[in-house]
Amino acid sequence: MTLPSTAPSRSRALPARVPVAVVGGGQAGLSISWHLVQRGIEHVVLERHTIAHEWQHARWDSFCLVTPNWQCRLPGWPYRGEDPDGFMLKDEVVEYVRDYAASFRPPVHEGVAVTKLTPSTDGGYTLTTSAGQIAADQVVLAVGGYHLPVVPPYATALPDTVVQVHSQQYRSPGRLPAGDVLVVGTGQSGAQIAEDLHLAGRRVHLAVGSAPRIARRYRGRDMVDWLHDMGHYDMPVEQHRDGEAARMGTNHYVTGRDGGRDIDLRRFALEGMQLYGPLTGVRGGRFTFAPELTANLDRADRVDDNAKDLVDAHIERTGADAPAEPRYTPVWAPQTEPESLDVDRIAAVVWAIGFRADWSWVKVPVFDGAGYPTHARGVTAAPGMYVLGLPWLHTWGSGRFAGIARDAEFLADRITELTSAGAPTGLSRTLAVAAASSAARIA
Ligand SMILES: Cc1cc2nc3c(=O)[nH]c(=O)nc-3n(C[C@H](O)[C@H](O)[C@H](O)COP(=O)(O)OP(=O)(O)OC[C@H]3O[C@@H](n4cnc5c(N)ncnc54)[C@H](O)[C@@H]3O)c2cc1C
Repeated sequence: MTLPSTAPSRSRALPARVPVAVVGGGQAGLSISWHLVQRGIEHVVLERHTIAHEWQHARWDSFCLVTPNWQCRLPGWPYRGEDPDGFMLKDEVVEYVRDYAASFRPPVHEGVAVTKLTPSTDGGYTLTTSAGQIAADQVVLAVGGYHLPVVPPYATALPDTVVQVHSQQYRSPGRLPAGDVLVVGTGQSGAQIAEDLHLAGRRVHLAVGSAPRIARRYRGRDMVDWLHDMGHYDMPVEQHRDGEAARMGTNHYVTGRDGGRDIDLRRFALEGMQLYGPLTGVRGGRFTFAPELTANLDRADRVDDNAKDLVDAHIERTGADAPAEPRYTPVWAPQTEPESLDVDRIAAVVWAIGFRADWSWVKVPVFDGAGYPTHARGVTAAPGMYVLGLPWLHTWGSGRFAGIARDAEFLADRITELTSAGAPTGLSRTLAVAAASSAARIA
């Protein structure tokens, strides 16, 4: 497939100062740019690689969306294809995002990495970039939520004969050496990569974590459709049972592959995949596992069951016409808790245990003790500085296609307000105001 060019700028010089700088040219950065274009607010989008880079270069070959296509509704760019209930393949997602950019020609500067962001003394912010410095009155950080791949320290104890890749680097079964593969982690990526290898006939060992699972369909519809109708994608994070801790939660495993289906690890086990509890380390030439396989499989099923309870209650409440469907019955259960696995049996390890945030380049004091940017719906305490596109920034859809339009519009309104209020903006103004008011109190 030839992907269309959006003709962004690699060569155009950066302006010395802009009212708004957006960092990141993924779907979040483009969405806020669309709103700023609509409002006639001058801005630049700085992207260190290329538009939609993560979709193109940080996903495996057989990747497809887990969320149905109808949820792809970037501002001004709803899904227009013929398969709203289907799941776009990787190249189709890249095409969807790039076509979006081509549709309104955002002022994207590709190949420009922002290496440092500081409050500037005359108001606003200074962005140090690979193409020089730029000043901005307001800045939107749309840099995604998956910065640094996590690999445990004990990975270094593995011999060189074991090839190690993070889920972000995994591409296809054929790119791993022949032999058994250990996949560590059962979030959305780990479960789907284990399936990818399993379907290719590879012998897979899977360390099962505490990730929840959800059925693809129930009572005649996709679970996402039911959850949407039930308002789950509109629920602000503050109303979530886990509150802001939901932001760190692991996504439910399920797949959109081949039109969409459940991922049933118990069935994989019946078909020969070796399941273990969470990996705890490498000792004496063996991988060691916590005895939590049974508990984790049961927990995942319980989450699925709870979601179905909610759907049943919704159907009863609304009188929706939906066929009855029996609940899932486990097709396999572990007889013992496997404790270890000989390292020599394994040709490759796929680490699918997530990512760490890296905001070290942002030198603005808005981070909590855990290094997460504190914000309310993306508005940080530093005037004119915003974050966008993070998981559960505001709702479940915030870090996905489903909710980015609403979040981008909200921030565009805040940017517009501050723009209308006029400069100066930024930390120095706050400090100036704070200094002035304390001077008044002293007087
Ligand atoms: C494996 C996986 C599967 C997913 N599946 C789905 C799904 O099925 N449905 C769904 O809706 N969502 C899904 N998501 C979630 C989400 O839609 C994606 O993570 C999406 O890429 C987020 O878009 P974004 O623009 O917020 O961030 P990104 O796509 O990560 O874009 C951020 C951009 O910022 C750039 N950047 C970062 N730092 C700098 C810097 N300092 N200077 C300049 N540029 C910078 C990066 O190069 C990147 O292009 C999935 C995520 C992952 C990881």
